Amino acid sequence: MDGTAANLEQQLAQLNQQYLRRLQQELPQLQWLLLQFVQAGPLEWREQASVLILRFHTLAGSAGTFGLANVGIIAKGIEQQLKTLLSQQQLPSREEHALLQQQFVEMQHAAGQPTEQQLSKTTLKKSDKHEARILLLCDDPLISMPIGQTLKTFGHQVERFSDFSQLLSSATLDAPDVIIVDLDALDDRAQGLLALGKLQCPQAQPIPIFVLSSDEEFEHYLQAVRAGVLGYFVKPLNPAILEARLQRLLSVRERDAFRVLIVDDDMLLAQHYALVLQNAGLRAEILTNPAEVFQGLRRFHPDVILLDVNMPECSGPELAQTIRLQDEWLGVPIIYLSSETDSERQMASLIKAGDDFLTKPISDNALVVAIFARAQRARQLAEVMTKDSLTGLLQHAHIKERLGAELERAARLQQNVSVAMLDIDHFKKVNDLYGHLTGDQVISSLANLLRQQLRKTDLIGRYGGEEFLLVLPECQLDKACQVVNQLREAFARIPFVSNGQTFHCSFSAGITSGSDSQQVDVVVDHADQALYKAKGAGRNQVILYQAPREDIPSHS
Ligand code: GH3
Ligand code: MG
Ligand code: MG
Repeated sequence: MDGTAANLEQQLAQLNQQYLRRLQQELPQLQWLLLQFVQAGPLEWREQASVLILRFHTLAGSAGTFGLANVGIIAKGIEQQLKTLLSQQQLPSREEHALLQQQFVEMQHAAGQPTEQQLSKTTLKKSDKHEARILLLCDDPLISMPIGQTLKTFGHQVERFSDFSQLLSSATLDAPDVIIVDLDALDDRAQGLLALGKLQCPQAQPIPIFVLSSDEEFEHYLQAVRAGVLGYFVKPLNPAILEARLQRLLSVRERDAFRVLIVDDDMLLAQHYALVLQNAGLRAEILTNPAEVFQGLRRFHPDVILLDVNMPECSGPELAQTIRLQDEWLGVPIIYLSSETDSERQMASLIKAGDDFLTKPISDNALVVAIFARAQRARQLAEVMTKDSLTGLLQHAHIKERLGAELERAARLQQNVSVAMLDIDHFKKVNDLYGHLTGDQVISSLANLLRQQLRKTDLIGRYGGEEFLLVLPECQLDKACQVVNQLREAFARIPFVSNGQTFHCSFSAGITSGSDSQQVDVVVDHADQALYKAKGAGRNQVILYQAPREDIPSHS
């Protein structure tokens, strides 16, 4: 039967998910064991090491099987290192311990990020995150066709209805993500809105409703609001605007978990805080060595830093001042967590650097609330500061900074990162023919398409006016080429409407491997050169960067 393969794939995916869940539970135990090993004295450390070797050996064997190749590789590395330690006579040194812990953090990181194998399955296919099931009622094909086409291009699943009662019963049976109703298709607009309003009652989470209408009567707006309508679109409708609205709605529902970097020399305590925060749905990473703070920041991009005040190598305020020396991390709140209850001394710490003071012991609840509120605020501010206002993508300087971090990470983990530069074709003409506002809509549509279709781990920046930079970590060149080509085809299918005229746009792209160079400017320049070639070759195409002959070292 046809469905068997798909079924098997689904089951495998389910197994992978189960394994991932189990792994997430196992990681804190492993971390604990590692800690026992690090703290063990000359009499017990060998025994602890043996226990760990066994655990990491098992992990190295299983992780790859469940699509977590990177976790497997790092676990293998840890296992081997432990064996080497065991073969030495003396107690492992502090450095050797630190290296192990560093590797472990890397493994945690890898376990939090699906590998390319898993991701390639979801890229440009239905992803359970972004894809929405949409019910559409509209009896004018001139309107419903472009809507259907646009929403499908963005990966949504559209079910069209011509009969209102059928739409209602379908929505009652299985709640969709969004309902779009053309009010002009209803016999009785007020009754229809009432029925849509009633639909909301039994739902735990209300179904977002968008309506299309040929008029802008205040009375009609009011009726719509009373029925719980979230979007009122006056015809002629621009499908791209509808999609943009939809995406904003869906993205609010799936925020990334807040990230908290805990710096504390007391591993046990740090682990406790981490667990408490993780339990509340936040992501937490631990640093016991203050000297590694910059690596930690770059790797983890925390929303909040939770800092111990008394640490042997350097004090919390000193570390906070060090962090504040770099503009890059100005926006990340630093919260001290200390047993210091003397408010004068708390003030003294805050004056040096830092934003808030929490006093130990603190109840788990109070910790979560304090961190959550800070993280939320910081995330909002960071969005405003780093994201471009038209597209919501990373601004020029920020995408370059993130590219730098990804190049570093790729080199460290010996992974491939692909980089693509996109530029909309003949965009000046769009502005000239349809006006600047319509031009803006085209730019924001492409941004939405990129956001919608790429993986969560991919980075997207608005590099210039109608230029976009994509950073695709753990992605080989041929895969990147395939992905960008699919995006190119999807973009070319989007119908844009201006003054009753429909038109289409395209983009050209240049792709290069970030692994060829560690330097951001060089990598960007390579992608740019390939883009230039794509323009020269007739536009609406993707070209891979090829080094000129003199760049290739000769071995003669
Ligand atoms: P090519 O195919 O060679 O890329 O041609 P092009 O017309 O797209 O290239 P060019 O770089 O000459 O023109 C880009 C235009 O994009 C010029 C600029 O006015 C316009 N532009 C830049 N930023 C924005 C923006 O935010 N909104 C709008 N509407 N237009 C913008
Ligand atoms: Mg252009
Ligand atoms: Mg340009």
